[in-house]
Amino acid sequence: MRERDKKIKQVSIALPGTGLKEDDFSKGRILTTHWTADARYGWDAGIAIGRYLAGLKNGIILGVHCKKCGRTMVPPRIFCEWCFRNVDEWVELQDTGKVNTFSLCYVTWDVKRIKEPQIPAVIEIDGASPGMGIMHLLGDVKPEMVRIGMKVKAVWKPVSEREGAITDIRYFKPV
Ligand SMILES: [Zn+2]
Repeated sequence: MRERDKKIKQVSIALPGTGLKEDDFSKGRILTTHWTADARYGWDAGIAIGRYLAGLKNGIILGVHCKKCGRTMVPPRIFCEWCFRNVDEWVELQDTGKVNTFSLCYVTWDVKRIKEPQIPAVIEIDGASPGMGIMHLLGDVKPEMVRIGMKVKAVWKPVSEREGAITDIRYFKPV
């Protein structure tokens, strides 16, 4: 092995890979591109979620029913994943339910510590099949009082503030 190759081998064992140096940038040895993206995009909610969101704007939680397996599902979907067939009908559900599971969250989405926890929870919606639920927040409740199985009800935004989003429900509170 030539002296130079030995040296390269030693370096690569000590530190695999080759790090970039400032020189590589300033002398143009590597290609870089700086640009500001003017990216605009649209997102289609699809048939099932589109109608679900329209329902929320009207203060209604919609589900779908499959006659073959008998399940009533929420959030709605156009296709029953158990039966591999289209669902049969839309169902108006209650805006009440029970806590299936929950968490006390002491950090925000951008990892800032908070004193009063957010309480994300899966709510099994009344009128849907057992175990069918939506993820939302609990409110008007002390964190230590939250229990699995606790009955809750949606607290809606005023009609004028609703926009056809899951946040048209502010949170669920105990009943
Ligand atoms: Zn089914």
